[in-house]
Amino acid sequence: MTARSVLVLNSGSSSVKYELLEPESGTSLADGIVERVTDYSKALAEVFDALPSLDGLVAVGHRVVHGGDRLYRPTLIDDQTIATIKELAPLAPLHNPPALLGITEARKALPDLPHIAVFDTAFFHDLPAAAAEYAIDRDIAEQWHIRRYGFHGTSHRYVSEQAALFLGRPVGDLNQIVLHLGNGASASAIRGGRAVDTSMGLTPMEGLVMGTRGGDIDPGIIMYLWRTAQMSVEDIETMLNRRSGVYGLGGEVDFRELHKKIDAGDAAARSAYAVYIHRLRKYVGAYLAVLGGTDVITFTAGVGENDAAVRRDALTGLQSLGIELDEDRNIAKDRAARRISADDSPISVLVIPTNEELAIARSCLAVLDAR
Ligand code: ADP
Repeated sequence: MTARSVLVLNSGSSSVKYELLEPESGTSLADGIVERVTDYSKALAEVFDALPSLDGLVAVGHRVVHGGDRLYRPTLIDDQTIATIKELAPLAPLHNPPALLGITEARKALPDLPHIAVFDTAFFHDLPAAAAEYAIDRDIAEQWHIRRYGFHGTSHRYVSEQAALFLGRPVGDLNQIVLHLGNGASASAIRGGRAVDTSMGLTPMEGLVMGTRGGDIDPGIIMYLWRTAQMSVEDIETMLNRRSGVYGLGGEVDFRELHKKIDAGDAAARSAYAVYIHRLRKYVGAYLAVLGGTDVITFTAGVGENDAAVRRDALTGLQSLGIELDEDRNIAKDRAARRISADDSPISVLVIPTNEELAIARSCLAVLDAR
């Protein structure tokens, strides 16, 4: 019998990432990215051209960034789901509209298959109110659905489950901090498998310093730029999304290049890195306090999986908090899930490759099997 496969699509503002995989075995059959997308029907045609046989394909999984307060379970897509995702566009103007275009075209191409939306916000839907609420006027917050939604949830959940497997302990018994450090970056605090805090908020702009986003800022900056520097809302938004973070400060979005600049004596690159690390350490400290101590801290995504200097600088000097890195393990070139703390470190520090596509594909099968 042909194994069941799922096509996972991640339709972004300028690219469509895809992977065809067999969720039960974890086997990847094909993956790739179509870049500089302006026409989603052409982009999807390119995806289908690149795929091997679709025998065994049972569903198409779509990554959708924002599910708002109504959509959080992996959801079989019908016209109602599409209408709801459309209504949520103002909450995620850069992300949800392209996801919808991808969904629309994929449904046209594969009308007989179930299409399932998996939301980046889902894992954080049940954050405790104390972590989810902003301390602003309650009536306004309720009217406009303003709360901390959190993002990268598929990754935080997957990585925390993998961390528990790695440690050979039930996820329900562990306090965890997960640091998802890619172009976008977010931290989460997880108690017994349930997220209790996360660094991204109403939008993916809050929290850690990222490739091109600055994370936490004083909201007063926005009014000041609008009123006094006479920047438009669009200009401010573009600056905060695309010309901030390590790129805004140091002129580089890729950490490999940032390190080269630092090594060449570039002061701006050095301060960009310092601000990045400072913020990361602050969140680790905050989440240790939120959780009342953690069993494990896990690094994941492009920077987290590959950049030993970031991992060292984020956690160095924290022996008094129970964190003892093993630098040989930290710098070892290894792509598998691994421990980088010393054996006697009270807190285990792990590096675990994230795999959002596999997690989405598994969620799709769970939806099918529950039908
Ligand atoms: P995205 O948020 O786009 O999914 P990724 O998780 O793929 O991002 O992370 C991409 C980032 O990872 C790159 O911009 C780069 O900064 C970083 N990165 C990738 N490989 C390395 C490496 N070998 N060393 C340091 N940083 C790396």
